[in-house]
Amino acid sequence: MFWADELAAAASGPQVVNDSKTPSGTVHVGSLRGPVVVDTITRALRNAGVLVELRYGVDDLDPMDAQALLTPDAIERSMGVPLAHVPDPAGDCHPSYARHFAQVFIDTFDGLGIRPDTYYWMSDIYASGAMDRYIRSALDAAATVREIYVRVAKVRHADDWHPLFVICDSCGRIGTTIVTGWDGEVVRYECRPDLVTWARGCGHAGETSPFGGRAKLPYNVDWAAKWDLFGVTIEPAGKDLSTAGGSRDRSDAIAREVFGNEPPLNVPYEFLNIRGRKMSTSKGLGASATQIAEVIPPEQLRLLFLRPRPNTAIEFDPEGTDAIPRLFDESDRLAGATAGREVKGELPADHERLFALSLVEPDADVAAEAATYRPAFSHLALLEQIPGIDVVERVTTEKGAPLTDREHEILEERRVAARSWLDAYAPDRARLAVQRDALPPAAAAELDDAQRAFLASLAPELESAAWDGESVQGAVFATAKEHDLPAGRAFAALYLAFLGRSSGPRAGWLLAALERDFVIGRLRDAATTRVGA
Ligand SMILES: [Zn+2]
Ligand SMILES: [Zn+2]
Repeated sequence: MFWADELAAAASGPQVVNDSKTPSGTVHVGSLRGPVVVDTITRALRNAGVLVELRYGVDDLDPMDAQALLTPDAIERSMGVPLAHVPDPAGDCHPSYARHFAQVFIDTFDGLGIRPDTYYWMSDIYASGAMDRYIRSALDAAATVREIYVRVAKVRHADDWHPLFVICDSCGRIGTTIVTGWDGEVVRYECRPDLVTWARGCGHAGETSPFGGRAKLPYNVDWAAKWDLFGVTIEPAGKDLSTAGGSRDRSDAIAREVFGNEPPLNVPYEFLNIRGRKMSTSKGLGASATQIAEVIPPEQLRLLFLRPRPNTAIEFDPEGTDAIPRLFDESDRLAGATAGREVKGELPADHERLFALSLVEPDADVAAEAATYRPAFSHLALLEQIPGIDVVERVTTEKGAPLTDREHEILEERRVAARSWLDAYAPDRARLAVQRDALPPAAAAELDDAQRAFLASLAPELESAAWDGESVQGAVFATAKEHDLPAGRAFAALYLAFLGRSSGPRAGWLLAALERDFVIGRLRDAATTRVGA
């Protein structure tokens, strides 16, 4: 059974799934695994008939500690200030830095079909007074919280440390304050110049009520408070937070011992490891979610993240490899199998669920989507490089019927992806310049008699073969076998004849991307032309 369906089958009663994020800077593609896992679980629960709410929190009272996109004087002013109180660095299009950068990930999620039932902003939740009772409990139990940090995480705070960050009345920073006393009504706090290295407090000391948005709980306490406030039953957490003595353990202990609440089910998930360090530097491309989206459409990106069990690391190495074409091929195999077509290779047992859950729209017609004509990515990457081809017309011919609107949409999405892939990621062997005008001199010089005989025999075979990659590839193999020519030398002969070099992409697909008449003419020329002839 698919991992998310196993989880859904074990759930009893209505469920609240929660996740949250600090809105700073760009969204790295690796950080999308959590949201895809959360969305997949939510969909699986819904499919199982479980009443479920997906909530997504924006931790916008967190202090500014990133320097992204700010000018030096603005950093000086804003470091340590709650993100909700920092101006939008891009101008006046959003009310704050937090709202601006949260919009980036909200839009990214939406493009992937991840649409939480509720987005909530912690600046609003604190201001509403909803967190006041947790603030009171945490302050009353300050000694217990300190003891939990020592016991679970081996972190020792000073004896007068209280689990609360006040927004300084004087300078507006939250990252620089420490609460040193609590009398049941007001807290005593200090805004220290040297409390943290990344921001400088103003030195103010004073007393204030901690309620109604004037303070926020530390991360682990805040997390446990949210579980109780929203009745969270499932909250997957990344591997970095799920280690022994890590954040999740601390919050679990605080939930139980301070708020008297059983923590939600954790579904720890591993990282996405992107190899190829050139990704962040070469050709101006990086690993941000918006950049990767140009070359991997949402359906394939969802598949990448939801296919393995969450506790399995994903190794993804798109730079100079076939990792991206292979992801498309896998996606197409799942579609084909779901549509009842015969597909090559082993299929995962839960292939239909994988396909259904990779679709962007949760209520998509799975059978209709599976039956949709999907031109192979590698084939399109070849077609895009051959001058003078009308790709839409070509794909329509290959389908043998006019494309539907949805098929036009898929084709366009894949053409954009193929061009971006060729531009930024493709290995050199996938890039080609077909020598159309004349037989490349290299072919005339390097082809030996056995190779020429093979090319001569292949020409009539291709006159009758079906004109698609697989059929042409089949004819190439069969003809080579008849001539006792090793496949490597047969392919080299074709690359020499068409590309003027001895390596290239899959030969059958390369030839099928060209016009039949041109291919047959070139085979005959190559078979008969000799050096000096
Ligand atoms: Zn903005
Ligand atoms: Zn201050």
